[in-house]
Amino acid sequence: MFAIAIDGPAGAGKSSVAKAAAKALGFTYVDTGALYRTITLYMLENGVELKDPAAVAAALPGLKVSLEYGDQGQRTLLNGRDVSEAIRTEEVSIATSRWVAHVPAVRAFLLDLQRELAARSNVVMDGRDIGTVILPGAQLKVFLTASAEERARRRTLQLEQAGESADFARVLDEVERRDRQDAPQLEQLPPDGVTLDTTGLSFDQVVQRLTGMAQERMDRKTEGEEG
Ligand code: C5P
Repeated sequence: MFAIAIDGPAGAGKSSVAKAAAKALGFTYVDTGALYRTITLYMLENGVELKDPAAVAAALPGLKVSLEYGDQGQRTLLNGRDVSEAIRTEEVSIATSRWVAHVPAVRAFLLDLQRELAARSNVVMDGRDIGTVILPGAQLKVFLTASAEERARRRTLQLEQAGESADFARVLDEVERRDRQDAPQLEQLPPDGVTLDTTGLSFDQVVQRLTGMAQERMDRKTEGEEG
């Protein structure tokens, strides 16, 4: 199996880049943020006190998160119900990064699932601790980042294109707040990782660099196995 781990701050374009790279390489794209978001959704729906890590941990046995792959890419299931859209709200984003993702029992709960997915097929997996904790043996580890201003600029453009009101200063504030809420220890570059700063690069350039690096490593792996 060949695994590509992509970590980095919110808004650096991890998911769209990972998805495009996975498609180009014929790999499965695994969005691990969706797993954390699904746990948050369950806690919100069941009135669990998110500020209480013990209450969150105690509620975990009531839920099952699973992923399905089909024509539409990854679908995320909560106790068998498709929640792929329901987990994308601002409320879920904020509660996940502020509370749920910090609970050690939550991270432990999702560990095996993430490793099983990578054992089943070649993956491009994106998240926060993929190269460091989940897949320390990944053949390629990339820390995808961009300046806060650049991430805010892209987000503002996205909102404008979606016909929503977008104020750059407010979006930048939000980006910086998310950075502060996400645990800093989860944003570390593994010692054998490569930083890819996408500030000033186009989407296609980033995808090309990533697939180029992956191809190089795969060729090397094949040569190593043959020789
Ligand atoms: O990537 P996404 O924005 O969907 O992730 C939602 C939140 O889940 C992040 O802000 C982060 O707090 C958390 N997360 C995490 N570890 C991962 C993926 C996401 O802590 N591997």
